[in-house]
Amino acid sequence: MSLSFEGVTLAYDELIALDNLNLHVASGEALAVIGPSGCGKSSMLRLAAGLAQPSAGTVAVDGKTLAGPRQETALILQDYGLLPWKTALANAELGLVIQGVSADERRQRALSALKRVDLEAFAQSYPRQLSGGMQQRLALARALALDATMLLMDEPLSALDALLREELQNTLLTCWQEKRYTQVLVTHSIEEAVFLGQRIVVMAPRPGRVVACLDNPQMGSLDYRNEEAFFAQCRAVRSALEGGARS
Ligand code: ADP
Ligand code: MG
Repeated sequence: MSLSFEGVTLAYDELIALDNLNLHVASGEALAVIGPSGCGKSSMLRLAAGLAQPSAGTVAVDGKTLAGPRQETALILQDYGLLPWKTALANAELGLVIQGVSADERRQRALSALKRVDLEAFAQSYPRQLSGGMQQRLALARALALDATMLLMDEPLSALDALLREELQNTLLTCWQEKRYTQVLVTHSIEEAVFLGQRIVVMAPRPGRVVACLDNPQMGSLDYRNEEAFFAQCRAVRSALEGGARS
């Protein structure tokens, strides 16, 4: 599923959260979006999820103007959105319940998604019994169980410590490579954007806008973090961020 923003402006009363955003994300592409707090990243994801409507311009999925949320789009937020009173398995099944999938098929798809993120042994555990990293993997399992064609993530790993973050980044990379859903990852981390984005959109605030769009064709291997090209890309993103801050 492709995703496009054409001349999109989003205003909250006087405040222009996004100003004339033009961006096309191809089907199966992995896009990373980075920028300082307040530059409109979350607003952009809410528009892509169909949870908000632009003040001007259009947001389209596969060329069709988005009028509301789609069942095939999964959104993962920083607080994971898990239901504390449901087991990991029931949480993983949640999107399928909403889709009206039969109980047997739900269970089977949720179990296979839990297995994919190494949580099958915790199917009967409750979210509070899981660490932050495991809760994040569970949120990912829920999206995988849905067979989502688009995965939108708003700073999903920012609550995790550095090592766990890298482990989850590896999981996100390999899942995307297997399933090839269209992925938009909003992050504060330069390294995360470079590790997971085929293209990296750099934004600046007041009003929220895109200041640079960097191609990152070498991404896609777990070893990329140790390569010279990776460090060069990190420097390029950092200088684009600094340029945006000065403009
Ligand atoms: P980011 O995710 O990059 O930090 P947001 O999209 O959350 O940015 O916010 C962009 C701007 O819009 C900020 O200045 C923020 O204060 C403002 N904003 C976000 N949501 C609302 C809202 N519901 N009402 C009014 N202002 C908002
Ligand atoms: Mg935000």
